[in-house]
Amino acid sequence: MIAQPKASHFVNGCWMEDTAGAPIDVLYPATGAVIARVHEATAAVIDAALASAKAAQTDWAARKPVERGRILRRAADLIRERGDALARLETLDTGKPLQETLVADWPSGADALEYFGGLVASVTGESIPLGGDFAYTLREALGVCVGIGAWNYPSQIACWKSAPALAMGNAMVFKPSEVTPLGALELAQIFMDAGLPAGLFNVVQGRGSVGAGLVKDPRVAKVSLTGSVPTGRKVYAAAAEGVRNVTMELGGKSPLIIFDDADLDSAVGAAMMANFYSAGQVCSNGTRVFVQKAILPAFLRALAVRAEKIILGDPLDMATQMGPLVTAAQVDKVMGYVDGAVAQGARLVTGGKRDGMFVQPTVFADVTDDMILAREEVFGPVMAVLAFSDEDEVVSRANDTDFGLAAGVFTADLTRAHRVIGALQAGTCWINTYNLTPVEMPFGGAKLSGVGRENGKAALDYYSQIKSVYVGMGPVDAPY
Ligand code: NAD
Repeated sequence: MIAQPKASHFVNGCWMEDTAGAPIDVLYPATGAVIARVHEATAAVIDAALASAKAAQTDWAARKPVERGRILRRAADLIRERGDALARLETLDTGKPLQETLVADWPSGADALEYFGGLVASVTGESIPLGGDFAYTLREALGVCVGIGAWNYPSQIACWKSAPALAMGNAMVFKPSEVTPLGALELAQIFMDAGLPAGLFNVVQGRGSVGAGLVKDPRVAKVSLTGSVPTGRKVYAAAAEGVRNVTMELGGKSPLIIFDDADLDSAVGAAMMANFYSAGQVCSNGTRVFVQKAILPAFLRALAVRAEKIILGDPLDMATQMGPLVTAAQVDKVMGYVDGAVAQGARLVTGGKRDGMFVQPTVFADVTDDMILAREEVFGPVMAVLAFSDEDEVVSRANDTDFGLAAGVFTADLTRAHRVIGALQAGTCWINTYNLTPVEMPFGGAKLSGVGRENGKAALDYYSQIKSVYVGMGPVDAPY
């Protein structure tokens, strides 16, 4: 299987290669086969990408918003037309089953392009009466934005960042994760085919050092990162040097709280979606599942039965429900957490074994708040189930974490649902469902999980700035 792109980078509307950059082999996680090789961006490639973005951005920002939006909506249509091939490539790049990549990854990216393409023409400023004089505001583009992606939803991330950025009149230089470099290049081609002028969406490959090189460049006005908290800290600090705008979409250890009046089947299904989709490699996963004591035995029984039926296998087989993890290092890391949980006294309910690059859907019960499994992001198919007695207790335990990405609550009591959500420290919350992230709804984290929001109308604020204009209508009254 070969998925070699035409070149490593896409700069100023053209494929670009520079083999002086260190090679990055792209592995199909399911087999370990090398499916492509790209090269890290050299300083010359980074410079060319930023220069072309800078040169193209002013004209783009001057276009009517409806025209910019039309191109983005065309790109959304092209993604849908090419959906099967794009899903297959995403599966090769990430190892996620076709069953998911056909419906989740690129389709969600297309939604973002369609949504922001349609929304941007309705963005307006305000007019402020000042008693004769008046002021008005304009929402202007920031300039050149850098997007840096994680490997778990590579193409969705590229779309979620570029759609609001381009809609508002910015240019973007995007660096995908070195683990999954392929999807963003396809997006660059799609944008060109949709009529996006050259230079507005560039893709450069590389590891963290390439990202760091982009972030510190004086031509850059904004950085949007999706990644881990340690990387977020570094990128945020580097962006601060140039007082650049940031969006930080970072990690989580989100609580999913299930009260004893909840619909058990739905709660079990949601807990599985919150831990096993994409083999657990989802930032917003509800990895601390708090279950009220009265229903705990029934919950664990139903969960084990369903978890053991999950079909692991060839990601390209439409019957496969869970693929391998993305890298061998990730498998090792996840198994370290599994072994650590056993050593700390958690009870293994099901799973817990690896088979090459695959990790079984794993459930631990009797997890306590101080266990590492309850405190650190695992990023694999490992669910921690914690017992609780009452509402106040579970809210304070749920909030006892430095993360604040997401949270969920299952209950039939609507007042309690809203009260609990109101008390949880998290940016993205669900009631009686989990992990649905429609483009219409802002997405992002509180506390260490992030700064800023993607999606929804809110995202446009993070890709624009307000210009205030005071209009004097009379003579100037100077005191001297
Ligand atoms: P990572 O932090 O290792 O890498 C993320 C990206 O940052 C990569 O492209 C990497 O090359 C780049 N990078 C690394 N060091 C850098 C530096 N010093 N300067 C600039 N760029 C640098 O994360 P990952 O392992 O690719 O992804 C998994 C993490 O991403 C998890 O913690 C997960 O929770 C998080 N994530 C968050 C969201 C969200 O929306 N909140 C979504 C997906 C993943």
